[in-house]
Amino acid sequence: MLKETIKNFVSRLFSTPRSGPERLPRDKHGIERRNVSRHAIKVCEVLQHEGFAAYIVGGAVRDLIVGLEPKDFDVATNATPNQVRALFRRARIIGKRFQLVHVVFGQEIIETSTFRAPASVEQDTDEHGRILRDNLFGTHEEDAARRDFTLNALYYDPVTEEVIDYHRGVQDLKKRIVRMIGDPETRYREDPVRMLRALRFAAKLNATIDPATREPILRMAPLIENVPSSRLFDEILKLLTCGHAMDCVRQLQAVGLDQGLLPLIEIIFKQEGGEQFVELALARTDARVRAGKTISPSFLFAALLWKLVNQRWQEICASGEHPAQALMQAADSVVEEQTRKLAIQRRFQADMREIWFMQARFERANPKTIWRMLEQPRFRAAVDFLQLRAEAREVDSVQAQWWMDLANADDATRAELIEAYQTESRGKPPAARRRRSTRRRRPASAPEA
Ligand code: ATP
Ligand code: MG
Repeated sequence: MLKETIKNFVSRLFSTPRSGPERLPRDKHGIERRNVSRHAIKVCEVLQHEGFAAYIVGGAVRDLIVGLEPKDFDVATNATPNQVRALFRRARIIGKRFQLVHVVFGQEIIETSTFRAPASVEQDTDEHGRILRDNLFGTHEEDAARRDFTLNALYYDPVTEEVIDYHRGVQDLKKRIVRMIGDPETRYREDPVRMLRALRFAAKLNATIDPATREPILRMAPLIENVPSSRLFDEILKLLTCGHAMDCVRQLQAVGLDQGLLPLIEIIFKQEGGEQFVELALARTDARVRAGKTISPSFLFAALLWKLVNQRWQEICASGEHPAQALMQAADSVVEEQTRKLAIQRRFQADMREIWFMQARFERANPKTIWRMLEQPRFRAAVDFLQLRAEAREVDSVQAQWWMDLANADDATRAELIEAYQTESRGKPPAARRRRSTRRRRPASAPEA
């Protein structure tokens, strides 16, 4: 404990600049004000007008400097949550441990937090040094010191258009170096999730992890086990949807963070075709993220776990169970097993099951059930999933395309497609010309008469 205390003290000493922060004018950081959310600017202006300090902070500043489009805009201020709330018409205080304010402007929420003091040894930590309580307000400088990486500790003042930089973050960002603020080992102990974050930012920014920041990860990977599973889920989801998911997964493997943490990745990669399937799923996700499209976590996790579900499904079927029942049992057991480590939210679990169950229904559909399937909210996702399986050569691509055509068609065309399917499955061959065109599109597994 004493060793930790001294280490903590020394790291703080070195991480606290003595000459104050650098203030970089516009030409040194290159942020164009027009790329900044006008609502975030508004929050800063209102707070500054009242005499408070207020800056845009974190991921948005980092992304703007390297020319990426920020996901969202956060503000940091020395006003307390109550003071912030009083200044805006639509603002609510959220969070129990550390309160912050959501200032709402239509669809956009500006998360506004009060400068926080860094973790100190007086604070409650668990036996590994993980912070359990951190709810002290602090100064601007302290707020910068408690952030994770130098490139995440940048503050943009939209009024003066300066970036305030306590830890040479702009320099690291320009050199593409992910560097922990303070002593990396202590900071990982405080919050092991920072190990995942280091990998994510390196992949996302095409950066390297500074050796001193990288080195402890190999040793400290097991600490991830102490992180609450819901928090882990949030961080893993961010990792898989950062637009460079496969790089992240490879990095996780390289530093040994996949084991125990993401048993699914370990197991999947060991199965035949498992790696290829995950790669295809992640490549699709990356492409969507980079094109600015939304991605569905349910689809992603359905894909990651599919090989396990599929294998177990085959096993249960082989024991004589009805296929639909068998699929349900397989899904239940895989989800139960995997969510012990990674708390996949219930609403996502429900969607994942629907996507999987529909895979069984694709194989034994009849016209009546097809119309019913079309009404299911997850139909589109399930068809996309079938396409993914076709890409992985698990199902016939002609079959997958037929369902895709159906999903994309208007009602009249759908009726035609289903009619053609019905005619064939009744065993009355349609006219030769039509037969040729419909056969191409007919689900491969339509029942033979
Ligand atoms: P993203 O683009 O994924 O949102 P981000 O950097 O904005 O990346 P957030 O999780 O939204 O990440 O966090 C906002 C900011 O809060 C970070 O930039 C960082 O300064 C700080 N932060 C977040 N998580 C931690 C952590 N675990 N330890 C220290 N600081 C953190
Ligand atoms: Mg963010």
